Amino acid sequence: MTTIQKPSVQKSSVPADLLALDARDPLGHKRGEFILPEGVIYLDGNSLGALPRAVPARLAHVAAQEWGQQLIRSWSVGGPAEASSARAAHDWMSLPDRVAAKIAPLIGSAPHEVAVGDSTSVNTFKVLAAALKLSGRRVILTDGDNFPTDLYIARGLGTLMDGLEVRRVSAASISAHLAPDVGVLLLTEVDYRTGRRSDMAAITAQARAQGALTVWDLAHSAGAFPVDLNGCGADFAVGCGYKFLNGGPGAPAFLFAAERHHAQAPVVLSGWMGHAEPFEMAREYVPAPGARRFLVGTPQVLGLSALDTALDVFADVDLKDLRDKSLSLSHTFMELMIPLQNRFPLTLVTPQNETERGPQVSYRHPQAREVMADLIRAGVIGDFRTPDILRFGLTPLYHSHADIWQAVQGIGTVLEARS
Ligand SMILES: *Cc1c(COP(=O)(O)O)cnc(C)c1O
Repeated sequence: MTTIQKPSVQKSSVPADLLALDARDPLGHKRGEFILPEGVIYLDGNSLGALPRAVPARLAHVAAQEWGQQLIRSWSVGGPAEASSARAAHDWMSLPDRVAAKIAPLIGSAPHEVAVGDSTSVNTFKVLAAALKLSGRRVILTDGDNFPTDLYIARGLGTLMDGLEVRRVSAASISAHLAPDVGVLLLTEVDYRTGRRSDMAAITAQARAQGALTVWDLAHSAGAFPVDLNGCGADFAVGCGYKFLNGGPGAPAFLFAAERHHAQAPVVLSGWMGHAEPFEMAREYVPAPGARRFLVGTPQVLGLSALDTALDVFADVDLKDLRDKSLSLSHTFMELMIPLQNRFPLTLVTPQNETERGPQVSYRHPQAREVMADLIRAGVIGDFRTPDILRFGLTPLYHSHADIWQAVQGIGTVLEARS
């Protein structure tokens, strides 16, 4: 077995131009707000975001105090007998709304258009069902290479709706397939394999012109760069809490429903927590105002609490800085990789054009699975995606250009050792 040297960060060897970029990085101070393991360069924040430093204390407080001591009383806003600080921290009932209000500015929406809970997969079901019903049509058009759960959920919906067709076409031909029978266009803004970012504004406008509604999956967008759902005229969207929002494994997901649809969009998973007055225990379902109606069951308090604190990291972040740095990191990565592409069988699959680039860089390699296993052992953590993709996620909140340089040194060492 070959042993591979762990990447030890030797600042002195990092090229001066990269150190200069880091020195004037307006987000440089954000790295200190995360706990990052020693001896590892973590390029997988697009799969599981790193742990924000403030989260463990919040979780400990929720467990020991809010749950352990206050028990059932934590659901509601504290009465006059309680200390005012306890009153402010509890109110589990409004936690989904408070988290929604923190996500809303990251995705270009109003707080009452966002609901937080369940998983991205379940939320995809909710908004797809609502959008299809609203459209009055029976065709879901989607990218045949969309993330599996999006395709599976669309298919599953077909078991409930007679005559539903899931039309899978290539991403490049989506516009050409926006026929008048398409009810819903289901797309992921950034392709999870290639990192290609689609033109949300243009595609949403084309769909609307054909009378189709849009459902955007923001798994690789929200928290990675500014998203402008309302500016684009999007109808519905979903996204993950545990990727670029750093809410922790299995964090609650979010959904977006444009205000203009609230009155008409059916709530198919009409659980009691989406009711206007859950504790009235009414016999008839009356939806809560706004997107809150799309909550289903009891809020996931532990996960919501972690996500709530994790989102505070964004409080002083200018999303334009986030995008600028993300592009600078990916540009740096691609440039540094060129000599390795010339020596090893690596093929860049991420667009070099900035407008088409998301927050990751991916390469094809014939032994991608084995190469990534070696890289992880060497302390450069990216991930492998079938069939042959090496995926490197870049997170401008906690990566420096020096990290990127260090990662590419590690990739070079691993590829060298294998050849
Ligand atoms: C990660 C990801 C999901 C995850 O869905 P879960 O229900 O959270 O497992 C959905 N869609 C896309 C595009 C993803 O990348």
